[in-house]
Amino acid sequence: AKQVSKGSYQIYNPGISRRLKNQLELEMDLRHALSRGELAMYYQPQVDLSSGTLVGTEALMRWVHPQRGVISPGVFIPLAEEIGVIEEIGEWALKTACRQTRLWNEKGLLFHVSVNLSPKQIFQDNLVDMVRSVLKQTGLAAKFLQLEITETADADLIMMSKKLSEIRDLGIGISIDDFGTGYNSMNYLKSLPLTQLKIDQSFIRKDYYNSHNMALIRTFVDLADELDLEVVAEGVETGEHVRFLKTVKCDLAQGYLFGRPLSAANLLGQLPIISKQ
Ligand code: C2E
Ligand code: CA
Ligand code: CA
Ligand code: CA
Repeated sequence: AKQVSKGSYQIYNPGISRRLKNQLELEMDLRHALSRGELAMYYQPQVDLSSGTLVGTEALMRWVHPQRGVISPGVFIPLAEEIGVIEEIGEWALKTACRQTRLWNEKGLLFHVSVNLSPKQIFQDNLVDMVRSVLKQTGLAAKFLQLEITETADADLIMMSKKLSEIRDLGIGISIDDFGTGYNSMNYLKSLPLTQLKIDQSFIRKDYYNSHNMALIRTFVDLADELDLEVVAEGVETGEHVRFLKTVKCDLAQGYLFGRPLSAANLLGQLPIISKQ
């Protein structure tokens, strides 16, 4: 460290400064990603386990960076929250997913769509108006839309319940995502106007799937059933998973077995294959 003025230090650490520079560049690029048309929406199939048909998709965002290639939402969503662009990006995501699903509906494919909502968006003042206006602009019927929420440590459940009830009143479904991994799941179930429970993939995916987790999955499915919630299993990767989920009467399944997230055009091309799984 070299002292530049009394009490302040300039730190010369090439490792740290490279990472910092990288982070700052990424932030700067993210501010422009939307206006430069670099964001894309992918769709992952959701299959009804009793009929084996594709009934909907989860919309998952991608950032196609001109130099770095495809950047995962696991990386850029937290960054977007940090630098305050999540509201814009979230609105774009909702609009894009609703517009695409409306197009499918018009072709007679009555898919629903699940769109992820960042906890930061729930605090957004005009969330309900924004959602209402997106439905109006895209013409999607509210019953085909679900919003997925995740648990956060600092949640104000009273405020959330109020907003989510207004969204429910529009006819939109509310799903609790990554269920079973948070600290506050029971309070969420108790306080919020939910319609769907989505079992986290860490109970199901190949590397975690065992009799202990199977018992937990069965318990979550029963719990959802008691509460009259639709239940979705995420991370379904094998035929064995499907057989088990059918015996415990899980409603919907989503995972690499049925398909990875794909662009809208590619999803349609995969349709015959998805239905055969
Ligand atoms: P998530 O909502 O839990 O989405 C599921 C993630 O699991 C997706 O990762 C998906 O590609 C992956 N996945 C699905 N099936 C399987 C499987 O069978 N095996 C394995 N190993 N993985 C599977 P992805 O697309 O990278 O998204 C990561 C997270 O980013 C999402 O987790 C969600 O929290 C967030 N995200 C994605 N799109 C949006 C968005 O539009 N808005 C917001 N706020 N968050 C988003
Ligand atoms: Ca999700
Ligand atoms: Ca999830
Ligand atoms: Ca049920």
